[in-house]
Amino acid sequence: MARIPHIINGEKVDAAERTQPVYNPATGEEQHELSIASVETVEQAIAAAKAALPKWRRTSLTKRADVFFNVRQLIKQRTPELAAIITSEHGKVLSDAAGEIARGLENVEFAAGLLHLLKGERDEQVSTGIDVHSVKQPVGVVAAITPFNFPAMVPLWMIASAIACGNTVVLKPSERDPSASIFIADLFREAGLPDGVLNVVNGDKTAVDTLLDAPDVKAVSFVGSTPIARYIYERASANGKRVQALGGAKNHMLVLPDADIEMAADAAVSAAYGSAGERCMAVSVLVAVGEVGDKIVPAIKERMEKLVIGDGTDPASEMGPLITREAKERVESYVAGAEAEGATVVVDGREAKFEGNGFFTGMTLLDNVKTDSKVYLEEIFGPVLAVVRVDTYEEGLELINEHQFGNGTAIYTRDGGVAREFEFDVQAGMVGINVPVPVPVGSFSFGGWKDSLFGDSHIYGPESIHFYTRSKVVTTRWPDPATSKVDLGFPSNS
Ligand code: NAD
Repeated sequence: MARIPHIINGEKVDAAERTQPVYNPATGEEQHELSIASVETVEQAIAAAKAALPKWRRTSLTKRADVFFNVRQLIKQRTPELAAIITSEHGKVLSDAAGEIARGLENVEFAAGLLHLLKGERDEQVSTGIDVHSVKQPVGVVAAITPFNFPAMVPLWMIASAIACGNTVVLKPSERDPSASIFIADLFREAGLPDGVLNVVNGDKTAVDTLLDAPDVKAVSFVGSTPIARYIYERASANGKRVQALGGAKNHMLVLPDADIEMAADAAVSAAYGSAGERCMAVSVLVAVGEVGDKIVPAIKERMEKLVIGDGTDPASEMGPLITREAKERVESYVAGAEAEGATVVVDGREAKFEGNGFFTGMTLLDNVKTDSKVYLEEIFGPVLAVVRVDTYEEGLELINEHQFGNGTAIYTRDGGVAREFEFDVQAGMVGINVPVPVPVGSFSFGGWKDSLFGDSHIYGPESIHFYTRSKVVTTRWPDPATSKVDLGFPSNS
């Protein structure tokens, strides 16, 4: 069994202090051993990033941009291999894995425009003979801590902009599917990124805590579940670092009576069950207004019956397994409790039969879900769609706004006026109007509201340039020495 190493200063490091299995979720078999970093190993990675910083921040912007143009090409060429790695460790189907790579590439393409992104501002003659300009400088060593559900895209959300801005990085990918990060780091190296600029350490809480406490780490980007996001935010900010910590979600799709029901049903099924519901932007609640419930629930059920669940490497499969056996058991325990909580179980995913030991579960559809039940309030992170019925648009909006999470949301309607009201009033960071999974394109930033994000910077796009740089404002005067005199007054404009 191959052991997955760390990458420190361009070298594959197999310290193997502790190891942990990495599974193929479709078969349930251990396929790799993963080196779990000790404090010392993480400290070595931080030291390598710190050592690489002075040279990298001096590297010209055009040379930095070159790396991104090159790595874009390499990632595009090697997409089938990277997708196969993702599928073998995460379980999602190959086409979905290729989709996440394409979305991650948007961040590389954005970073390739760094000459434009890092431009400062200049004001001439702010006072007589005085000019002011600002520059954006890197913050230093950045820690990037990522979840299992997008093993290529989420690392690219962080590392592309962080590196473009002249920082160096220690990436700590999810221990469940770390190989995509190693593959991407290798491609960055091939693209010309100097050693030490991007380091990868594999590990668990020990590695994360070491990054959160290290004085040389100046900024922390985190994506994962809400309890851990809150912890990361509190600990890293108490240590004086800037932090963006993106957490969990419970995304509502509000369907109004004037919506095209067939289209809304297609969207709900795609957004709820794609990637087995293991997307932070998955639709997990459908809010049916008025008579919508009676029409859309059968339409969704009909579509579910035709979907194929299986090994993600099989082109016929549309949904793969869950990430771990524990995840499968956790999701199924929510389904088991749903009826007692007052829901109508329209399709019970536990009844689906699968051969072998893979971490598969079927798709579940719950109707008449109560808003005080666990299946409504908590993030399940699996293929479970909860339908909540309400009488009015206002009731639906209120539900969304009162929920703990505010990542994404969507409205299905043909009424532009109501859609505009929804956009104005809804308490969520990303809104889809007849778009079920409104993940912003790479030239905008991604982030939720409420318990879906701790910190004030959204991730990737323009906000990432702000997050990964410090601004410096320079005031300049070139006076005639003959006019110089002592003046103890506070400098004022003249
Ligand atoms: P997770 O919180 O379990 O793990 C995320 C990272 O934190 C991993 O690298 C993990 O090693 C580390 N970690 C786990 N426990 C820790 C602890 N006690 N102390 C320190 N570090 C710890 O999340 P996950 O299960 O890998 O990913 C799924 C979650 O991520 C879901 O809640 C999903 O909604 C969320 N997510 C959110 C977004 C977003 O943009 N808001 C995007 C993707 C995923």
